[in-house]
Amino acid sequence: MLKKNDRELYEAIELEKKRQLEHLELIASENYVSDDVLEAAGSILTNKYAEGYPSKRYYGGCEYIDMVENLAKTRLKKLFKVKYVNVQPHSGSQANMAAYRSILKNGDCVMGLALDHGGHLTHGHALSFSGQDYHFVSYHLNDEGYIDYDEVAMLAQKYLPKLIVTGASAYPRAIDFKRFREIADSINAYLMVDMAHIAGLVACGLHQSPIPYADIVTSTTHKTLRGPRGGIILTNNEEIAKKIDKNLFPGIQGGPLMHIIGAKAVCFKEALDPSFTIYQQQVIKNAQALANKLVELGYKLVSGGTDNHLILVDVKSSVGLTGKSAELILDTVNITCNKNTIPNDSEKPMITSGIRLGTPALTTRGMKEKEMQEVAILLDKALRNPNNDQIKEEVKKEVIALTKKFPLFAN
Ligand SMILES: *Cc1c(COP(=O)(O)O)cnc(C)c1O
Repeated sequence: MLKKNDRELYEAIELEKKRQLEHLELIASENYVSDDVLEAAGSILTNKYAEGYPSKRYYGGCEYIDMVENLAKTRLKKLFKVKYVNVQPHSGSQANMAAYRSILKNGDCVMGLALDHGGHLTHGHALSFSGQDYHFVSYHLNDEGYIDYDEVAMLAQKYLPKLIVTGASAYPRAIDFKRFREIADSINAYLMVDMAHIAGLVACGLHQSPIPYADIVTSTTHKTLRGPRGGIILTNNEEIAKKIDKNLFPGIQGGPLMHIIGAKAVCFKEALDPSFTIYQQQVIKNAQALANKLVELGYKLVSGGTDNHLILVDVKSSVGLTGKSAELILDTVNITCNKNTIPNDSEKPMITSGIRLGTPALTTRGMKEKEMQEVAILLDKALRNPNNDQIKEEVKKEVIALTKKFPLFAN
């Protein structure tokens, strides 16, 4: 037992547990997994080496491990109505790397959404392998805060990329995958959708599915999908599926994390249950309730609102704070979020003019529209009184009182 044998680590975990319990978690990419997911992730499956794929392993003793991976694969195929899946990527970034290597050569031209307009590092940022190995051209949001499809079409004609990537880490609106397919078809390019943030919504039919349109779909499993930390790759194209399997292992990874694949299987079972749709519906209702209340309180949101699980608040033009200082102020009152660039941000990436707020985690705790209004009021109070320690102390007390009404974790 850690409590007896490794006091230092035990205490760090207990402190983190208390933080998770007593903070309002608004980071849009985070969630709380079920106790069943935790049980599988902490199971003896971690002991097994299983390089390769079910029935084609490089090690003996994989008969039960094969059952685990096959369960995960079968459930995942059913969840997204797709023919071929790979459940081994250690993370979303690994999934993207394996996907790129399956259809691109180094130096090939690719298009992706700019990081400061909501894209992900692996969509071509200079500091990411993606920006270093491939020639990425960025597309952007328009002045209303929506993806500028006309610019996408124009850049596609101009640069003739081999691949167009869409999907985002900080985009509050629905993405039109059909439109992306049409643009890709017009120049004979592949289309890849990275649905890391919205996979849970897609699984429940609350966002258009990319499966009918994209050649490859990648995702994380730990955001709205509410599974363990990890990645997945999906496709209906048999040729591409074979290349993905080879490029993932032995291409870029070694042995699969079988405990995590077990936890993914649990996650997919939970996501196939009707209760998961009710959860995702509430995630969206909560994001809209939070957005509406913030607008009422005088905040400016990128694109004016949300279609999904997150909102982007322009704190600079709303309350005169940078994203960095807003994040720090909210942290002192136990509200956790992250600073985020807004389109055409005048501040540097480490400062920013915005914050990103998401509702998946609070919704998992059982909070509904009423609590979202309360959260907006608490957040507003803190942001408008950054130098008033007494008010901030009161807000923090109210935040902790709110969290106590929505317990987490069986153990
Ligand atoms: C979170 C995210 C990823 C990467 O996930 P990691 O597991 O952190 O590597 C990739 N793409 C998008 C769009 C994301 O939001």
